Amino acid sequence: MKHSPITVSGVEVTPLCDAVGPMGPAIRLPLAEMFPGSDPADDQWVLHFHCYLLRDGAGRLTLVDTGIGGEDSPAAGWAPVPGVLTDELAAVGVTPADIGTVVLTHLHSDHASGAVTGGRPVFENARHVLQRAEVDSASGAVSDLLLTPLKDQLHVVEGQAEIAPGIHVQHTPGHTPGHQIARVGDLAITGDLVLHPVQLADPGIHYVYDDDQETAARTRTEVLAALRAERATIATAHFSEPFMRL
Ligand SMILES: [Zn+2]
Ligand SMILES: [Zn+2]
Repeated sequence: MKHSPITVSGVEVTPLCDAVGPMGPAIRLPLAEMFPGSDPADDQWVLHFHCYLLRDGAGRLTLVDTGIGGEDSPAAGWAPVPGVLTDELAAVGVTPADIGTVVLTHLHSDHASGAVTGGRPVFENARHVLQRAEVDSASGAVSDLLLTPLKDQLHVVEGQAEIAPGIHVQHTPGHTPGHQIARVGDLAITGDLVLHPVQLADPGIHYVYDDDQETAARTRTEVLAALRAERATIATAHFSEPFMRL
């Protein structure tokens, strides 16, 4: 376990550090091109790939995102595979079969690939929560490699939904059509709503790999403003420190 848990509204939230590394050359750009208009202090973007384990007072387990997956993952072309998510879970005494609910913030290869291995679901007892818009926009390899093996375990929601006691999801489109964040108490697990700290200073800064950069910037600006107003803490996918108080 590389990062320490926090407790929010009676739910223990443990960051699981699936991998750490730079983006591979297949898609890497200078940071000022990755985030046009930004002036990053450092051009070395070493990404962490975080998933989050939520354990409520009754011992129910929810996992938010499933990381980059194994050597044969679709993320292997650009992310530092293999991910170590199941080792991180084992370090806190959890096996994949213990997970009751998986929230996939979106279907990008570094967030969802760890949900399936060898054509079979990794979290065999878990419902997998996705937004309707994400399922409807999936096609090709994403559909074949992820949605087909998970089809009997999908729990599709639209917009805001309570997916486990005290745990909500919220539709935050732009990075992908059905991107969602997860909320517990004053914590927001933000997926790829915000990729790099430069977007906290200016949420209007685009990210070249957002599907719809205008919508993503609008969503990011609105959601971060609302989270700031409630002095929320964010739990990020790719920052080096998992938690940040806004
Ligand atoms: Zn980390
Ligand atoms: Zn993404």
